[in-house]
Amino acid sequence: MVRPLPEPERVPAAGAGRKKPDTVVAFDDRMALFLDVDGTLLDIAIAPDAVVVPPELPGHLRRVATRLGGALALVSGRAIAALDRLFPALGCAMAGQHGAEMRSAEGCEGFMTGAIALPPAVVAAVEGLSKRYPGVVIEPKGVTMAAHFRLEPDHGPALAAALAAILEESHAPLELIPGKFVFEIAPKAVSKGRAIEHFMRQPPFAFRRPVFIGDDVTDEDGFAAVARMGGLAIRVGEGGTGNYDHRVESAAWVRGWLRVAANSGVSAHDHGSV
Ligand SMILES: [Mg+2]
Repeated sequence: MVRPLPEPERVPAAGAGRKKPDTVVAFDDRMALFLDVDGTLLDIAIAPDAVVVPPELPGHLRRVATRLGGALALVSGRAIAALDRLFPALGCAMAGQHGAEMRSAEGCEGFMTGAIALPPAVVAAVEGLSKRYPGVVIEPKGVTMAAHFRLEPDHGPALAAALAAILEESHAPLELIPGKFVFEIAPKAVSKGRAIEHFMRQPPFAFRRPVFIGDDVTDEDGFAAVARMGGLAIRVGEGGTGNYDHRVESAAWVRGWLRVAANSGVSAHDHGSV
């Protein structure tokens, strides 16, 4: 017996030409589904390593991916190696480090053009901030790095200023992306939107309607990308610029939606209303 999910809050679409949000949350086998991870599939934890993957979630993701003919990708700020630790042998397409690294549905891997390793001087300077701001957790990922301050929220403004100064001094084409108690440093050339566009140019994603579910500032590029392609942007939780079609309340809601999709029809034309 599948429990019906709550109706999501309807949010007016921003900007001209956006789709009306009246059919969007119905699962459709013709979607290409892009899912952020932290705050979207998983509840945010006090530290990146402290997140919990509900035991049934990987199986639900695999079944949903099968319904979509493989057109499901995780699109995360985490490195693909970290996603593999969270979801061993998931077998889905992935974009890691905000789209810097890509893995196709067939398992082919590569880096996005412009996704070059961070300059060692930047890495060293950012790592040094954990001494100046105790409780700040620095997460080097290769092409990107994160400074988490959830344990010490008061450090936020000073940390932002220090990171901005490091980037300015480096003269490298890098940008600072604020998130939920985290600042990310990433090459200007990479974004979740660009990763989604790249997936949409190839099978099994091409010619499907892109749907992206995300919860944070770095997901806004993904929302804009799916809007440009006539797709659907779903925001999890509060905040954001309003540039989405739907808002749903929590990662638990997303997991429930996936559970229903995983356990319901397999017809190519099943609109399986949730
Ligand atoms: Mg997130």
